[in-house]
Amino acid sequence: MQLESVTLRHIRMNLKSPFSNSLETVTARDLIIVEVRDSEGEVGFGEGVAFTSPWYTEETLQTSWHMLRDFIIPKLKNQLIAHPSDVEGILAGIRRNPMAKSAIEGAIWDLYAKREGISLSRALGGSSQKIKAGVAVGASDPSVMLEEIHRRVDEGYERIKVKIKPSQDISILEAIRHSYPNLSLMADANSAYSLQDIDRLKALDPFHLLMIEQPLAADDIVDHAILQKEIETPVCLDESIHSYDDARRALDLNSCKIINIKPGRVGGLSVSKRIHDLCSERGIPVWCGGMLESGIGRAHNIALSSLANFTIPGDVSASARYWEKDIIEPEVEVENGLITVSKENGIGYEINWQELERVTVSKEVY
Ligand code: MG
Repeated sequence: MQLESVTLRHIRMNLKSPFSNSLETVTARDLIIVEVRDSEGEVGFGEGVAFTSPWYTEETLQTSWHMLRDFIIPKLKNQLIAHPSDVEGILAGIRRNPMAKSAIEGAIWDLYAKREGISLSRALGGSSQKIKAGVAVGASDPSVMLEEIHRRVDEGYERIKVKIKPSQDISILEAIRHSYPNLSLMADANSAYSLQDIDRLKALDPFHLLMIEQPLAADDIVDHAILQKEIETPVCLDESIHSYDDARRALDLNSCKIINIKPGRVGGLSVSKRIHDLCSERGIPVWCGGMLESGIGRAHNIALSSLANFTIPGDVSASARYWEKDIIEPEVEVENGLITVSKENGIGYEINWQELERVTVSKEVY
C-alpha cells in the first residue's frame, strides 16, 4: 500500500446526555476522523480518541493533530506499507502519542482489509460472529444512575459498569445490589483512590464485582500489585497500560487479573492484538474499553472484540446509547444483548457523509 492522501477532520458530536466520571464531565465529543486513500482510490477510516483536555491521558485532540500533521503522516506517506502491522515499526522513532498513532493505524487496517476484500474482523484474526454488549453508566445522582441501570438492563445489556469515587462508592453499589443481586456489575474508579484507601477498597469485596477498574494512579503498576494481594475483587487496569511492555510488566507483577484494551490508549490494533495474545497465553481475560467513540471507532472496537480472548463484555454499546444520529450506516445496534460482527469488507459500515459533513468543525488534506 502507498498512501496517496490523508484527510484529517475535527468533528464535534453532541452526546444525548452528559457523561461524568471521577475526573471530568463530557457533553460534546470532539474527535479526529482520519481518511487514508491509496493510489487506486480505495479508502480507509480511523478515529483519534484523545479528549480536548488532558484529563484521561496526556494527549489532547490538538496534540494528536500536531503529531499526525508534522511527524506521523510525513513518515507514512513516504513508505510502501506491506501490512498494517508494519506501521508500528515505521513510527517507532516517535515516542508515545499512542492515540495519534492509533488514529491512522486504524485507517490503514481498514484500507488493507478493503484491498484484500475481507472484513476487519477477519483481517485481525477474529472468530466471534457476535459480541456481548456492555454499557457504562456515568456518575451522577444515585436515583438517576439507578433509573439508567433499569433502562439499560431492559435494553438487554449483559454487563453494567458504573463510575465510582470515594464519596460515592459503597452507597451506590448497595443501592444497585439491592435491586440486582446477580447483575454482572463492575466499577470504574479512574484513579480516584490511593493505597491509603485500602480498607475502603476491601469493603467493596462483598458486592461481588466482576472487577474494579483502575482504582489507583494512572501511571502505577506497583501499588496495584500491593492492592490486588489485599482485596478479593479482581483489579482491571485501564489507564496504566500504554504498550505491550506495560501489559507484560503488569502481569509479571500480578498488578491485575484483567486488562481493558483500548486501541487508542495502546497505539493501535496491532499492539492491541499482541496484548490480547499475551493475555491469552497467561490466562488473563480482556475486554474492549470505550472512549465515547463515533461509529467509526466503535466499528474498529467491534472487530477487535471478535478475537477469542475478549471474553468479558466491553464498553461496546449501540450508537443510540450516545448519539441522536451516528456518522455510519447502518448504525450499531444491540439485539438481545449482542452486537453482530459485520462480514462486509473493512470496518463493515458505510460512512453517512451528510452527517459526517454536518459535524465537521475543520478539515485538512495532506
Ligand atoms: Mg476506565
